[in-house]
Amino acid sequence: MKVVILGGDGFCGWPTSLHLSKAGHEVIILDNLSRRNIDNELETDSLTPISSMGVRLAAWKEVSGKEIKFYNLDIAQEYDRLLNLLLDEKPDAIVHFAEQRAAPYSMKSPRHRRYTVDNNINATHNTLCAIAESELDIHLVHLGTMGVYGYGTAGMKIPEGYLDIEVVAENGERIPQQILYPPNPGSVYHMTKTQDQLLFAYYNKNDGVRVTDLHQGIVWGTDTEETKLDERLINRFDYDGDYGTVLNRFLMQAAIGYPLTVHGTGGQTRAFIHIQNTVRCVELALQYPPEKGERVKILNQMTETHRVRDLAKLIASLTNTEVAYVDNPRKEAAENELKVDNSCFLEMGLKPTTLAEGLLHEVTEIAKKYADHADLAKIPCTSVWTKDQKAGVPQLK
Ligand code: NAD
Repeated sequence: MKVVILGGDGFCGWPTSLHLSKAGHEVIILDNLSRRNIDNELETDSLTPISSMGVRLAAWKEVSGKEIKFYNLDIAQEYDRLLNLLLDEKPDAIVHFAEQRAAPYSMKSPRHRRYTVDNNINATHNTLCAIAESELDIHLVHLGTMGVYGYGTAGMKIPEGYLDIEVVAENGERIPQQILYPPNPGSVYHMTKTQDQLLFAYYNKNDGVRVTDLHQGIVWGTDTEETKLDERLINRFDYDGDYGTVLNRFLMQAAIGYPLTVHGTGGQTRAFIHIQNTVRCVELALQYPPEKGERVKILNQMTETHRVRDLAKLIASLTNTEVAYVDNPRKEAAENELKVDNSCFLEMGLKPTTLAEGLLHEVTEIAKKYADHADLAKIPCTSVWTKDQKAGVPQLK
């Protein structure tokens, strides 16, 4: 297959590009390097020393003999370039990672809220519009989030995208239907992902665009089989208060003996997936596309759920670190249950990497190894969700 990877310089996009290239697909990366620029804005950096795109691609060619093309292109702003590129390259599939993906960053200020909406919704819409205008039968695989469901499901297992309901007609007849699971975003970032779902449903219905939307859990880990091959291929590892997702942030805090900061009671239950499983899921989604005329295929891309305070306690006990409870910057329920149906990927053959297998490797091989690159001042989350909360370093409880 010829596959275009939108956002192929990012945390999930880079290892996926290498994985697909290794598997024999022709890979083309489009990225505007905005994630690297956001690091400049926030005066932070990946814990791991990531190479420039030129060095990454040259190293991959040296190690694997395979070539990956790269275009620096803003898919939210440069519609004509995007369309012409699709017409020239005629890809079989596009994998779309190219969005601003941090909830705390999206809540920082009105500017950050507006940037996240402008960037994410235009990126998705331009991609769909260009596929429709190109008249090519390109399968679009998008990285969405488990966060579109919200987290309160009254004990029900979250289905893969669609909810079975019964409509009561005027004559009293009960008619079974399936609807898109009611969205319930918890941040401006998550709201853009729920909007993406409507864009997919519309272009699928109106223009017959084939779409797979992957509702992904929080990704943890750093290395994949391909990024391990050479240090110049290393993946990024975010630990700062905006982009550091909860498990990777804990791993890094544990590695340097910094108390694991749990927001609120830590009663939030979240879904997780290892980066090696992420790249495999994308490969499976490409292998099993929806048929022409089929509705948007939605798959839950996660392997385990955990309560945040349980994770903190587990890592604390493995590494002799303390747990510190701080104010929660988010506006959310203090405690929630989360049960998720992920049978589609398991049936396709996904073999989950569990926390039990990978945690200590991450602490010792990645977080400890690069600990001296860490800027401790960047660890606390300083963004807040509402004006009545105090922005700044969260207070210990
Ligand atoms: P990332 O920020 O590391 O990567 C995104 C990449 O897209 C960056 O390289 C960035 O430069 C690029 N990009 C952003 N806007 C662009 C634009 N307008 N034009 C071109 N390139 C653009 O994020 P990630 O962690 O790799 O996440 C990738 C996708 O997976 C996101 O859509 C995110 O919502 C989703 N996801 C991630 C996680 C996670 O834990 N990391 C969890 C669930 C879902």
